[in-house]
Amino acid sequence: MTITEIKGGNKNQKEIIVKTIQFCAERLNLKRRKFNLVVKVKDLTKNEYYGVCSMNHDAKKKEIVIELEKKNTLMEMVRTVCHEMIHCKQYVKKELTEFYDAKKNEWRYFWRGTEWTKKVIASEEGKYDLTKAPWEKEAYGRQMDLALEAFIYNRL
Ligand SMILES: [Zn+2]
Repeated sequence: MTITEIKGGNKNQKEIIVKTIQFCAERLNLKRRKFNLVVKVKDLTKNEYYGVCSMNHDAKKKEIVIELEKKNTLMEMVRTVCHEMIHCKQYVKKELTEFYDAKKNEWRYFWRGTEWTKKVIASEEGKYDLTKAPWEKEAYGRQMDLALEAFIYNRL
């Protein structure tokens, strides 16, 4: 894992983010995996997100992008980095794969090789309810334990 860029955020935020990422990479066995990690600290309030993790499908080398809300408190920031690093692990270990289906004009998601479809878990609006997706269940399920460990380990 190589952190290639940290955009935005103050000195203190950057330090906390990098320490938490390094801790998660160690715990999730990502240190020796070959991929680039780009971190952006920005205003995500419009979407009401604490953070977002996505695979950059346009990059030549494997690149994962983590975006973090700049107004996150210390607790929110550490917890969110842990959450997004679990998604990062899912992408790197190919537990979660996705591709854009041009014919259907939509993204298709696969969890451990099985397609995750609207038919299986549909929200009321008939759209994807990603909070019910198995990769989110894992991320929400593990984020607090990881965050608490990160707090202690890094003496935050
Ligand atoms: Zn998530």
